[in-house]
Amino acid sequence: MSHIPMVGLRHDVDTGYDFTHGIEPVSRLEDRNDARSTFFVRVRLLKGHPERVRILERLQDDGWEIGLHLDNTVASPKEPSPQEELEELTLLGFRVHGVTPHGGLYGFKGWVTWEVMDSLGLDYMMGYPPFPKHHRTPIIGPHHTIDFLVKELGARKGVEVLLQRLDSDIGERGYGVVLMHPLYMKFSVGPSLTFNAVKVSRRQGLRAYVLKQVDRGFKALYTLLGVRRVGEAYTVFLREARDRGWELVRIHDILNTR
Ligand SMILES: [Zn+2]
Repeated sequence: MSHIPMVGLRHDVDTGYDFTHGIEPVSRLEDRNDARSTFFVRVRLLKGHPERVRILERLQDDGWEIGLHLDNTVASPKEPSPQEELEELTLLGFRVHGVTPHGGLYGFKGWVTWEVMDSLGLDYMMGYPPFPKHHRTPIIGPHHTIDFLVKELGARKGVEVLLQRLDSDIGERGYGVVLMHPLYMKFSVGPSLTFNAVKVSRRQGLRAYVLKQVDRGFKALYTLLGVRRVGEAYTVFLREARDRGWELVRIHDILNTR
């Protein structure tokens, strides 16, 4: 195990907004804090968008890691196979070491998704507990999502709780992991009263759907008001983490030095 505590920085790239409003500011901020991170990307966002590919290429050249944010988490025959998603990303020239599940299309489906990710034969995978007992691919995690913490507790308290949780992870495993969605550099996560809406998808019925739309409206309003944006919380977090002497790294780096 490494002597310097490590915190892996993970970003899930879910939408076009992440490219236009999130990825570049987040990487500049990390650069200023001597940090590097991993961007997990949905391959379908790159189709017909060479400018998005170029953004990621530049990041890879400058020491960031590009990983697979898997859409087909259940290996459905209706979508390109998980293997095809991986191949597409690799063919674009990205050195893919790890995979994370995207929540929007099929979402994380427990052992089914673990098995699908394991079948890709990558260097590591990430998901949600309970972790499987039998698997070949090393698992990194669990992780803490700063966006959810800011939404639930506000920026100040959210960062405080995040640092406490990382402290305890580092004590237990020698490392911690933080997830931040890049679009929240600009966009607000909205108020805590719609916190439960972040966990529902359109497939879960009308009530859940309405809740999600209400949450969207609040997010737009809060974004206009300039409150509860994660960018400020992430800035404070990076500084505090550095002050504690933690090394802020790509997910792949955790694996290499464990
Ligand atoms: Zn996602």
